[in-house]
This record gives sequence, C-alpha cells and structure tokens, in this order.
Amino acid sequence: MANDTITQEPAQTSTTVGNYFVSNYPPYSFWAEERVHEAEDALNRPPRPGTDLGIYLHVPFCRKRCHFCYFRVYTDKKNDEIQSYLDAALTELTLHAKRPAIAGRKADFVYFGGGTPSFLSSEQLVALTDGMKALVSWEGASEVTFECEPGTLTDRKIKTIRDIGVTRLSLGVENFDDHVLESNGRAHQSKQVYRAYDYARQMGFPQVNIDLIAGMMNETEDNWKACVAKTITLAPDSVTIYQMEVPYNTTIYKQMKADGKVTAPVADWQTKRRWVTYAFAELEKAGYTVKSAYTAVKNAANARFVYRDSLWAGADLLGLGVSSFSHINGTHFQNEHDFAPYLARLQAGKLPLHRSYTPNDDERLIREFILQLKLGRIDSAYFTRKFGVDPLVRFKPQLTALVADGHLAIDGTWLTLTRQALLQVDSLLHCFFLPQHANARYA
Ligand code: SF4
Repeated sequence: MANDTITQEPAQTSTTVGNYFVSNYPPYSFWAEERVHEAEDALNRPPRPGTDLGIYLHVPFCRKRCHFCYFRVYTDKKNDEIQSYLDAALTELTLHAKRPAIAGRKADFVYFGGGTPSFLSSEQLVALTDGMKALVSWEGASEVTFECEPGTLTDRKIKTIRDIGVTRLSLGVENFDDHVLESNGRAHQSKQVYRAYDYARQMGFPQVNIDLIAGMMNETEDNWKACVAKTITLAPDSVTIYQMEVPYNTTIYKQMKADGKVTAPVADWQTKRRWVTYAFAELEKAGYTVKSAYTAVKNAANARFVYRDSLWAGADLLGLGVSSFSHINGTHFQNEHDFAPYLARLQAGKLPLHRSYTPNDDERLIREFILQLKLGRIDSAYFTRKFGVDPLVRFKPQLTALVADGHLAIDGTWLTLTRQALLQVDSLLHCFFLPQHANARYA
C-alpha cells in the first residue's frame, strides 16, 4: 500500500528504542511454529535447478556482551557445553545432508557468524570444519567468511583460520578508541586490532574486512574522523559501516528503561548519517567504491560479497546453530532460539526447527526487491525476467513517492537511490511491505 509520508525522514531524529534494519521479508514475527511442516516439506524436495547453496553456522559465544548487542549470544558457557554445541551443529548438518534438498550438493559459499566464531580454539575449529566438509563439501566454494573479535585472535589461530579455507576475514573493530570500546562493553582493545590485522595480511587472506559502527556511546566528531583515517591507513579490502541502533533486547535499552528515558545515549540519526557520509566520502577519496548502504570496497572490479549477493538473490541458505535462519526451496525457517532446546532436539536425533513461513510469489518479489535496493542501484529488468512482474508497475505508488521526495532517480529500467537515501535505506524499505506487515515489530 502506498503511503507517501512513509518515505520522509522520521520526525523524531533522536535514537529511540527499536530497529529499522531489514534483513529479511516477511518480518520474522510472521514465521510460525504451526507452519514448521512447510520447512519439512521444503527439505524433502530436491533443489531448484541452478540454485546456489550456502551454509551459515552461528557460533553464539562471546567473551563479553556488548551493551548494544541484540544477538543470541552466551558469555558463560563452559568448555564441555561449547563442545556439546559443536557436536550438535555437526549432528544438525548430518541430518540435513540426508534430506533431498541438501543431499549430494556442494556449498557455493560458507559463513561463520556470531557471536564470535574466533572464540573457538584452533583445535575446535579444525575438528568442526573437517566434520562439516565431510558432510557437505566446500571444494570450489567461492567465498568462506569468518567473523572475528580482534581480542580472541592469536597468530596461531589466524593461521588456522586461513588453513581451514577461509577467504574473507571480517574483523569486528567497531572503533579504534579504547575508551569508546570499553564504555560500549567491547571485549577488545585497539592494539589487538593492529596486531591481528598485520598478521592476517601476512597470512594472505584474499579479503580482509573491517567493521565499524557509527554512533557508539561516547563517540565524538573528532574521534569518528580519526577512526576513518586509521581505517584508511590500514587499507582493508572492504569496510562495513553500520549505524548504531538500540533494539529492545540490548543492555542499553534495559538501562534506558530503568532510568525512565526514551532517548538512547547515542548520536541522533542525522549525526550518524553525517558520519557515514563523511566516512564514505573519505574512503572514495582513497580509491574505494561504495557498493551498498553499508559497504565500501577497495578494488571494485574484484571485490565479491558472495554471501550477501547470493542471499539477496534468493539462493538457498542452510543456517546451522541456535536461532539460525534458513531459506531452502523458497521456504524460510528458523531454529530453536535457546541453547538447551536446541541441544535437546539434536541429542534426540531431530532437527531443531522452531518456526517457518513460505512466502508467496509477490512476497518473494518484495523480499528480493527491498534487499537488493540496499545496493543503491538496481535494474528492474532483472525482477521482470525472474518474477514476470515489472517492479515499475507493481511498486509504482511507492517509487513515485520516493522520486517526489528526492530519494530516487529512475532512468529506463534502472533505479538509483541518492547517497542520503541509501544511508537511511532501511527506514525507506518499509513502504514496500504488504499492509499486513507494515507495522510489524521487526524481530
Ligand atoms: S561481539 Fe558481537 S555478537 Fe558478541 S556481544 Fe559483541 S556485538 Fe554481540
């Protein structure tokens, strides 16, 4: 449903609780336990010809919980519990590998996310990945991504991560100032970033990424500029920048609630957008190219984001681990979202499926269209070919409003967001949601 006011910036620009970030569609709150049979059906069908397969493993352990974190993470698990979790993840993959949707396929891309995958020891990583590869081969995978918390990285572990086949090392730097890091609950310090980065370079990873967050608590204009300058000096292959949000299940929100505050103690949205605008402009001056709302790459011709691009184009993704999300044969599903039930289901030899949803054709079109709009420039002809529906017609009211608001230019079949629109793209995407999804809490 069109609503030409939705494309305006939020009237209230301070950062309040909630998140705009759109990572999937329809919103997770519409996925249902009573629809889990749809996931079972999808797993029991052979794959759609020509569909790539990715594997995601959620490693839900961290040394400390960052104050802004809203992920499913545990900071108190003992070694035997961690081992049980890794065993369960391999059991999960064993069960999936027997299903028609997965049997006999190779992984085209692999992603270790968290939590903190680098929390695991070298021995655990080798045993885990040997086990995974024996079940679903990674041979020929075009990208294997591994997220790291710099303080967990020793030289030996970085070498192990390279040896197991990781091609893209993503360093969760977030900020280079130790006071900002500490006051936001980060476990690492800046000197650990430099050490890990240097050694990762020596190890020859094809792609090293640095993650930053604009608008952490105690961030200042000068410090943000210094962070950008330090990033450019390190010269990573890509830089990912997120604007700080304060979702409900964060420590920051709990403190706001206790204090009776509505506004979060972080920069307002205009300031955060200005900081990302500055960062992207500096990165562009240094030869980088902005490739999405969150990413700049050093070598645009060679830089690949296989996980992101495949996922946004409807690839199959098998999510392993507690609370992981999957998309197989056109059906969404999510695993049990707590540690004990996840383990219990697998120890009983059952898949830990928790909730599911099968989007219809129109919802699949909306999903791909809004996710790919985050790239900033898309060809509507791709969607017309794939879905038999022209987005310029299907979304005419919303696109007209975006053009009228100065957010979007349409040139033939190409749609290009302005830089300012790109930097608030998640809040603009909600206007493409079906009416029944428009006001959903995005969780
Ligand atoms: S390191 Fe990442 S996953 Fe772990 S607590 Fe911090 S933000 Fe959350």
